[in-house]
Amino acid sequence: MSLIDKLIRRSIRDLKPYSSARDEFQGEATTFLDANESPFNTGLNRYPDPLQKELKLLLSKEKSVSADQIMLGNGSDEVIDLLFRAFCEPGKDNVIVLPPTYGMYSVCAAVNDVEVREVVLIEGERVDLKGIEAAADGNSKLLFLCSPNNPTGSIIDINVIEDLLSAFSGLVVVDEAYIDFSSTPSCLMLLGKHPNLVILQTFSKAWGLAGVRLGVGYGSVELIDVLNKIKPPYNVNQLTQRVVMEALRNKEQVESWVTAILAQREVLELALSQSPVVKKVWGPEANFILFEVGDPDGLYEALVNNGVIVRNRSRLKGCEGCLRITVGTMEENLRFLEKLNEYAKEVVV
Ligand SMILES: *Cc1c(COP(=O)(O)O)cnc(C)c1O
Repeated sequence: MSLIDKLIRRSIRDLKPYSSARDEFQGEATTFLDANESPFNTGLNRYPDPLQKELKLLLSKEKSVSADQIMLGNGSDEVIDLLFRAFCEPGKDNVIVLPPTYGMYSVCAAVNDVEVREVVLIEGERVDLKGIEAAADGNSKLLFLCSPNNPTGSIIDINVIEDLLSAFSGLVVVDEAYIDFSSTPSCLMLLGKHPNLVILQTFSKAWGLAGVRLGVGYGSVELIDVLNKIKPPYNVNQLTQRVVMEALRNKEQVESWVTAILAQREVLELALSQSPVVKKVWGPEANFILFEVGDPDGLYEALVNNGVIVRNRSRLKGCEGCLRITVGTMEENLRFLEKLNEYAKEVVV
């Protein structure tokens, strides 16, 4: 029995998937009268390719991963939800998350009636391996590792990830939403070595396409087949496929954006670390910086009153006192720093 056979929910294993018109006929023809579409050309009158083959081919070349190891979703949030639905039996199975981290893992768990076991990161950055071992049991299906982590910006060492891949009996989901901003390599190179590895990436951050909603899951062929079997047939629309293919053909643009963000991140990091109201700046490996102040609500209010919105993370366990700022353009960052300075002058006497 394969690993996926062992982990998959019975009802999903036995599911006969919906077969769309586009599934049943693929190829060249002159007359398409099979899908109840409109015959009038709007540029969008046909259903999109359910398996996004052309887009996957481009992505496969870009990432050096075989196209049948790629799953595309309506944002990576959809891929996260599909993982729950495929592998976690409601009311019975559990997943492990390492707070403080991205909130969607727990939200998806709650929606699917799946227990969440929290193993808090040591000092907000280091993985508690013994804690995970103690929390895991035969019903632990997913372990979420977010690296670089939202909201701390910390990374999990690739050796630690490999240790967890060997030790954990379920799927290890490495969320690399911010990998393009990190100094560490992606886990994609581990894909061939570990059948229980799932990697999530997204076009929402470095690629500048949060509005199109495109998330990517990478995994074994068998795992990707399971996700494709249960996804809504046309989950990635035609406009999204078109725009993302354009972006992939023009990736110099993304590289120059990333360079600009990294330079601005350095400016922000330095200014924050020198501010008299800032107690701690977390080592940033993403396009945001988490920093701790004495009165997070006070600073947040002062910024809001000046039209500058950051994320108040101070009520998150492990992030007490912290605000998170996304790296913006030079002008936006300067405006933030100007308001931070004004605030500092008022509170530090
Ligand atoms: C922003 C973010 C995502 C991206 O989600 P999409 O649904 O692809 O927009 C995924 N994981 C983390 C940790 C994030 O911060």
